[in-house]
Amino acid sequence: MREEKLIDRIVNNFFVCDKAQLLEIFSEFLGAVEADQASSIGSTMSRNYETAQVNPEINVLPGNLKDARDSIFPYYWGTDDWSSKLHLENVKGPANYASLVGALACFLKNPNLCVDTYSQRSNELEIKAITTLANLVFYHTESPSGVFTMGGTLSNLYGAKIGIEKVVPRAMQNGIQNEKLVGIVSEAAHYSSQTLAGWLGLGADNLRSIPTDRSFGMRVDLLEKALDEAWNAGCKVAFVMATFGSTDAFGIDNVAEIQEVLKCKAEEHGVPKPQLHVDAAVGWAMCFLSEYDLHKNPLGIDEAMLKMVARIRKSTLALQYADSITIDFHKMGWGHYPSSAFMVNKREDLSYLLRTRESMPYFCEAEYGRDPALFTLECSRPGIGPYSVMASLNGIGLRGYQALVLHAIEMAQFAREEIDKLDYCKVLNPKNTGPNVIWWVLPKGRNAESIHRRLMLGELDEEERLGYFTEVKRLFDKRSDAMEIGRDARISFTTSTGHSPHGIPVCAWKAVFFNPKTDRSVVQRLLRSIEEL
Ligand SMILES: *Cc1c(COP(=O)(O)O)cnc(C)c1O
Repeated sequence: MREEKLIDRIVNNFFVCDKAQLLEIFSEFLGAVEADQASSIGSTMSRNYETAQVNPEINVLPGNLKDARDSIFPYYWGTDDWSSKLHLENVKGPANYASLVGALACFLKNPNLCVDTYSQRSNELEIKAITTLANLVFYHTESPSGVFTMGGTLSNLYGAKIGIEKVVPRAMQNGIQNEKLVGIVSEAAHYSSQTLAGWLGLGADNLRSIPTDRSFGMRVDLLEKALDEAWNAGCKVAFVMATFGSTDAFGIDNVAEIQEVLKCKAEEHGVPKPQLHVDAAVGWAMCFLSEYDLHKNPLGIDEAMLKMVARIRKSTLALQYADSITIDFHKMGWGHYPSSAFMVNKREDLSYLLRTRESMPYFCEAEYGRDPALFTLECSRPGIGPYSVMASLNGIGLRGYQALVLHAIEMAQFAREEIDKLDYCKVLNPKNTGPNVIWWVLPKGRNAESIHRRLMLGELDEEERLGYFTEVKRLFDKRSDAMEIGRDARISFTTSTGHSPHGIPVCAWKAVFFNPKTDRSVVQRLLRSIEEL
């Protein structure tokens, strides 16, 4: 008898939807968000790692939903939602509330995107979301396909894996055996390329890193050389991973030109063409501008911005030459984690990843086309991606996203112009079209421009160079120490911008204008904090 009552209580408390109670708790969470945002950046609670590990916690007797709330609340309260307009450290910012509406719906149904029978219409929503994003990035495409994954790293891993299967058929069954496999990235590539090379058995040491030019894009002439070298040495080149929007400088590799080179060179050597995968985890959002009407100019942007948009369009239209692509909707889609998508330009390419039905006895009824588990790395797969993407895209709309992206670019451009007015400062990515700004601050009295020119020409000796780099870092630290909470923006520091003239990694201050609430006054205050150093 007692057993039964306990189970009834558990069912009632935890498996019956008590709308009033859920709304009450959710409203308390929202109240905490309000209170949190009213206070200022940097005011989150300090961590207690000291005892987090020695004091694990589990209640002995069943409680209720408020016990659930209480057990996580201090950590929820102590976590920054990055909604402050003063966060400029990286591409991490507030998720939009349309995405929250989608994500909540997803949590309530909790679909598993592995197969149709576990997800039903949510699986359909994934196809819709992927096709929408694919049309946006590949522009003119016939049979795109793809899946949502746990993050950009994993999406990149899918692209690399298809490349491996293309040059070492049946590697999925037989392994890569004694093949000498190589993958190619640029020096500005995200470190996830190292991760995936390691995890796929290619080995991080077998990644060739191609130097970039001063706009942080891969040097295609050096790519050609690397291809010749690899093939002449009897290696198989599985993939070239181009970067579309590098992490620090927003460098953009020329996808069209790289694809052309891959085709010609592979033919010349009589080998399969390497997979051209594009890591557009951040940069993909520029595709919202692909269809911006420069003549009608519906958002009324100024002449300089129109020129910028024209340049952006030229680069985004080249994405149609990619074989596959990574996009992170949880970055410049302002969606929730994880909302990363891996997409192929031609649906057939997914067949390189196909498993046999016999190897998946659970899903014996699985059908290619409706059941992604036949080719995904994951078995269980969350539905957050499709829900976040569709809710956001249709809440905010194409015009809305254009406005968001333009705002980010405009703020970055404003910052570049203001920074360059100071003789002792130098913007290092003046021509880049993204939300990232990287720059030097040297002591007043120095001519940053001429120091930079000498660095690029290779005229600085090591001692001089280290001296200047130390000054750039020292001033960054000085600003960090003097920062006024709630007034000064948080920015970050990179020790290597993604372009190393004469092989020398270059450090810089970095700001990413990603938060739609960040306005000119934040930039002006940032400039003042530099002048005050
Ligand atoms: C963020 C990022 C990644 C990694 O993506 P996650 O979603 O964080 O795993 C890969 N490449 C680039 C260029 C990125 O900016």
